[in-house]
Amino acid sequence: MIIQSKLPEVGTTIFAVMSQLATENKAINLGQGFPDYMMSEELTSLVDHAMKNGMNQYAPMPGLLSLREMLAQKVEKLYNNKIDPETDITITPGGTYAIYTALTTVINPGDEVIVFEPCYDSYIPNIEINGGRAVTISLDFPNYNIPWDEVRSKITSRTKMIMINSPHNPTGSVLSETDIEELRKTVEGTGIFLLSDEVYEHLIFDGLPHLSILRYPDLMQRSFVCFSFGKTYNCTGWKSGYCISTPALMKEFKKVHQFNAFCCFTPTQVALAEYLKNEEAYLTVGTFMQQKRDYFQQLMELTPFKPLASHGSYFQCYSYAGLSEENDLELAQRITRENKVATIPVSAFYKYAEDNKVLRFCFSKKEETLEEAVERLKEIKF
Ligand code: GLN
Repeated sequence: MIIQSKLPEVGTTIFAVMSQLATENKAINLGQGFPDYMMSEELTSLVDHAMKNGMNQYAPMPGLLSLREMLAQKVEKLYNNKIDPETDITITPGGTYAIYTALTTVINPGDEVIVFEPCYDSYIPNIEINGGRAVTISLDFPNYNIPWDEVRSKITSRTKMIMINSPHNPTGSVLSETDIEELRKTVEGTGIFLLSDEVYEHLIFDGLPHLSILRYPDLMQRSFVCFSFGKTYNCTGWKSGYCISTPALMKEFKKVHQFNAFCCFTPTQVALAEYLKNEEAYLTVGTFMQQKRDYFQQLMELTPFKPLASHGSYFQCYSYAGLSEENDLELAQRITRENKVATIPVSAFYKYAEDNKVLRFCFSKKEETLEEAVERLKEIKF
């Protein structure tokens, strides 16, 4: 059989590639973003309890109402936005799925979507599989800020959406009030939609506030905002997230969702609805993760890598410019094989691999894992 690829330029996602290479080489995996420590036992007990209580059948298509109600309360408290749990939220099998569904809801063939590179590697294929065209704009290196004048120069009558992501994967940059103002100026009076990837909403450091799009009613009316329980509660393997939008947009989103996943795993929804009552659990994640960032940065001072700024997410980028002429993919692969530490080459977050000689490290690991990884990184031969 001959199949005409719908994604001819796409290979296997870098996260699968590097995790596989890490496993083959028995390397410490600082590549794909996931914690190596235990998640809350209280939360796993709640899942166990839900299953034993018979909560094992289909949940409602948009998600368990009790969970959506708890999320609405949280959103009101944190972002001062009164959303309607009946109409404005859908629980999804992960943040990536929420992003895919929002794009599929909005993008028609020929539509242009503005994306800032480096960007999470699912964005562009998700645009293209819907017949859209990604209009890429490089974030200013090395601070990874959005060049707003360039954004305005790239808007055309076909621009359907702008995708933003704060805290940002892979760089850990975060949007400021000035960015929000620029965004507002850019979209005001247009029919441009926004997709705001906020899966790292609680992983934000240095006292910075998370400027969720949920805070801005004028921007919210054109937005899909995507979140992840996996990042907040250290359970990436649960593949659990949600999307918030307006009733009209969410109605269309649900049309796509209902014939794909239809609904999500029920026991975790029961558990999360209960666990969300504990505000401490999500409000302390930022401090906890900042300690990990600081500890990792301190350890890494003993290596020749040069840190770039990271104010959020659980990623820290390091430059090896001046140390090696290898491209970042070659170096990441060599370090995994020779030194047994896996990372992610940041060029993988560009459509046409822009190589700034930067690697992304995930620091949401036990202290001893970070210590051992850095011991090994000290031995790299440049
Ligand atoms: N979001 C995770 C990361 O950036 C990976 C998710 C995935 O592997 N699909 O590392």
